[in-house]
Amino acid sequence: MALSLIHEVLRLALRDPFRIARSGQDAGRAITTVVVELRDDRYPGFVGIGEGFPDRFYGETADTVAAVLPLLLAAIGEPEMTAAGLAVASEAMARAIAHHGAAKCAIDIALHDLAGKIADQPVHRLLGLSAEIPPTDFTLGIDEPAVVAERARRAARFPALKIKLGGSDDLATLRAVREVFDGPIRVDANTGWTRDGAVAILPELERNGVELVEQPFPRHAIRDLAWLQERTSLPIVADESAVTIDDLEGLVGAVAGVNVKLAKCGGVGPAARMLARAHELDFRTFLGCMEETSVGIAASAAVASLADWVDLDGNLLMAADPFDGLELDDQCRWRLGDSPGLGLRRREIG
Ligand SMILES: [Mg+2]
Repeated sequence: MALSLIHEVLRLALRDPFRIARSGQDAGRAITTVVVELRDDRYPGFVGIGEGFPDRFYGETADTVAAVLPLLLAAIGEPEMTAAGLAVASEAMARAIAHHGAAKCAIDIALHDLAGKIADQPVHRLLGLSAEIPPTDFTLGIDEPAVVAERARRAARFPALKIKLGGSDDLATLRAVREVFDGPIRVDANTGWTRDGAVAILPELERNGVELVEQPFPRHAIRDLAWLQERTSLPIVADESAVTIDDLEGLVGAVAGVNVKLAKCGGVGPAARMLARAHELDFRTFLGCMEETSVGIAASAAVASLADWVDLDGNLLMAADPFDGLELDDQCRWRLGDSPGLGLRRREIG
């Protein structure tokens, strides 16, 4: 067999506690992600790195990722190491098993990194995509309003902030951040609101310069999303309701935007296709991430030219990113340079 894969489960501390509306009580101090290394014996000396962040909400854990990786590897066989060949590999993974977006994502990213290195091209160029991408926002988790405001003050260099709501002090949190940050604020309730709660806070969102509202209601509450979208000019953006490209048609007419993430939809190729399809359907597009290292973020940045808004900050939330090579420019855009593949190196520890 041409391809061989090893995986490693990384447990990484976060810089600040990071809670969202659907976090457990003790969640938010560290994350678990899965990093893979892929080799192809047709191209000795090259190693592709990938990452799949398993989210229990979508039915994945580090164990399910580890269990599914061999099956996915067998399904793709010996792919041609070109953009077209990797698209075929991605389809083979989709046919092999439903769901398991993070496991597919880990292999898909590693394939793109490897193919880029073999072709001596950065991943965005391998895919024929532009290096001109929107700046990333910076995300603040749920906490006491004064604590969130202090973190907002520290994040003043970012052109926009995303704040997690759906806790007990949403309005106080929004006002506290507004007092210290002048730019656009994006809010994400992570399924944590009811119709009544959303309508009550809506005028305050509009008054306080909120730019978009992400996933106010539960994943399958599409009619509720449509109901809220009818009541506001703010874009309602589906995240938990928009997992893969197959979810897009069902959201037409319900929400103005969708949040695409590599770890939900299965990697670089599926994300590029989902973003393109979302534009065809007239959605505004948000490219998001999980709490991923620079591997997941660099892979996402490679397709970010296809998105209207970018939220790629998972690696910035970590106390120590195990990879380096990815940098923000002075306008908070990830630099897509000329280094082959994702252009990352494993950081020496100690
Ligand atoms: Mg979200």
